[in-house]
Amino acid sequence: MEEDLSILRKSVREFASKSVAPLARKIDAENWYPRELVREMGRMGILAPNVPEDLGGAGLDLLGVSVVLEELARFSGSVALISEVQGTLVTHILVNNAPKRVAEEVVPKLASGDAIGSFALSEPCCGSDAANIETSIERQGGEWVVKGTKTWITQGLYADYFIVFGRTGPRSERHRNIAAVLLKRSSCIKTNPIEVMGFRGTGTAEVVIDECRVGDDDIIAPPREGFKVAMDALNVGRVAISALGVGLAEAAYEEAYSFLTQRIAFEKPVIEFQAIQFTLADLYTLIESSRSLVYRAAELYKKGSEDFPVMAAVTKLHSSQASVRVANEAVRLMGGYGYSKESNVERIYRDSKLLEIGEGTNEILKLVISKHLLRHGAKWLL
Ligand SMILES: Cc1cc2nc3c(=O)[nH]c(=O)nc-3n(C[C@H](O)[C@H](O)[C@H](O)COP(=O)(O)OP(=O)(O)OC[C@H]3O[C@@H](n4cnc5c(N)ncnc54)[C@H](O)[C@@H]3O)c2cc1C
Repeated sequence: MEEDLSILRKSVREFASKSVAPLARKIDAENWYPRELVREMGRMGILAPNVPEDLGGAGLDLLGVSVVLEELARFSGSVALISEVQGTLVTHILVNNAPKRVAEEVVPKLASGDAIGSFALSEPCCGSDAANIETSIERQGGEWVVKGTKTWITQGLYADYFIVFGRTGPRSERHRNIAAVLLKRSSCIKTNPIEVMGFRGTGTAEVVIDECRVGDDDIIAPPREGFKVAMDALNVGRVAISALGVGLAEAAYEEAYSFLTQRIAFEKPVIEFQAIQFTLADLYTLIESSRSLVYRAAELYKKGSEDFPVMAAVTKLHSSQASVRVANEAVRLMGGYGYSKESNVERIYRDSKLLEIGEGTNEILKLVISKHLLRHGAKWLL
């Protein structure tokens, strides 16, 4: 098992250093979506590595998926985010919830990179308060009519398929009437680009849905089930995006470390100053502890532990803060060079800020953890 993981790590690292690294700057600087690379990742089985083999994927568990994302993020956060959304959010939901016919038709295309998918929950009104969304999914005749506006949707600009969450009744019922539908891109969907600070080139978009009509087969989660389906995917996503954060932090640390061994100040390499060594020791500890949390959370998920959601929140709260801190310190440790576009750490710093916001802000994660504390007291996640 450990041997399998190290083979997986080595092969993703080789692929990413050859095929992802040369594109990382272009993706960021030009806000460029690497469509051909996405197909290549599909062929490698690392675009949606969670997809079972009988649906065209690599059938990796959450630990394997985490290794893939960690390794991709070492070379490009954006490329890792594309895999995270296509895998742990979109195909995860379809594999576990879509009617068999729909899963068999759509999932192989998403695993191979022939099609792009997006997860559309957030709206202009509501991100953290997702139970308050406004998009409507109404029964009219024998069809469902979907209407509303989604925002911040990763891959929204290029998606062929959208998993859209909406409500079948009044907002006062909050999560109790939220359903999920699968929409195929057509003339009833307009997408508008949103310029963002980091994770550029991932097709972040506003998605305007104007009376799209779908049948019963396109209902991925019925009312009452939709919110749970979104939260289940987000819990897995929180671990996956934490793994991505570990990869970003490793890359920032390694770049800073290498710089510090070569940079001379006051007649010696900067790494020889103890103040610098102590900072590196702190950063190293943050990275190692984040990775350990990711692997432990993946283990709890595999076991079906009821503590998995709180563990996912703990993992993301710690690792998002760790990634931001490592990137922040790496910029400073590298002086003016760290602040320049010549370095990778400035991009990693911008990328890492999203980890404190997407898939649950740090405040929302603390709400999840606090609820656990109030309900269970000092029940440890053993
Ligand atoms: C680049 C990018 C990509 C994204 N991709 C996707 C995607 O693919 N699909 C998707 O559906 N969404 C996506 N999102 C949206 C993301 O999930 C939301 O931005 C996030 O959930 C926060 O929601 P919000 O932006 O509406 O902020 P708000 O919910 O308005 O929060 C604003 C502030 O209020 C705080 N806050 C809110 N409620 C509480 C509370 N009860 N207690 C304390 N503080 C609180 C928040 O923590 C935050 O600091 C993406 C966002 C970005 C920036």
